[in-house]
Amino acid sequence: ATLPYDDANIFARILRGEIPCQKVFEDDFALAFHDIAPQAPIHILVIPKGRYVSWDDFSATASEAEIAGFVRAVGQVARDNGLVAPGYRLLANIGAHGHQEVPHLHVHLFGGRPLGAMLS
Ligand code: 5GP
Repeated sequence: ATLPYDDANIFARILRGEIPCQKVFEDDFALAFHDIAPQAPIHILVIPKGRYVSWDDFSATASEAEIAGFVRAVGQVARDNGLVAPGYRLLANIGAHGHQEVPHLHVHLFGGRPLGAMLS
């Protein structure tokens, strides 16, 4: 089961403006910013603005507008950052086995070099 949302998590603090981020996109539904420890030349995180721990609670309880907004934001960020033509990787770590470290839903966009078969 999905954990209850923790308002003290680092991305909640970024959303509240308590911690700075290198923002690349923001609208009513999503925020995107550079990962603090990039694993590729381009490594951007996209998060919904709502209080969702993971894909699980987001997909089950978010509104159609929130889901559409988030999905569209991911595509917009990929286009705006030159990822589409060369290609990129979209990844979400979910829960313990997925090695999710921050309990606010986020997707990683990796690009800027050929990425190989997997990122470990
Ligand atoms: P995951 O939860 O999917 O394992 O990954 C969390 C990601 O958030 C990691 O890639 C980590 O580098 C990134 N991260 C953790 N704390 C911060 C932060 O304070 N600012 C930014 N921009 N990224 C962070």
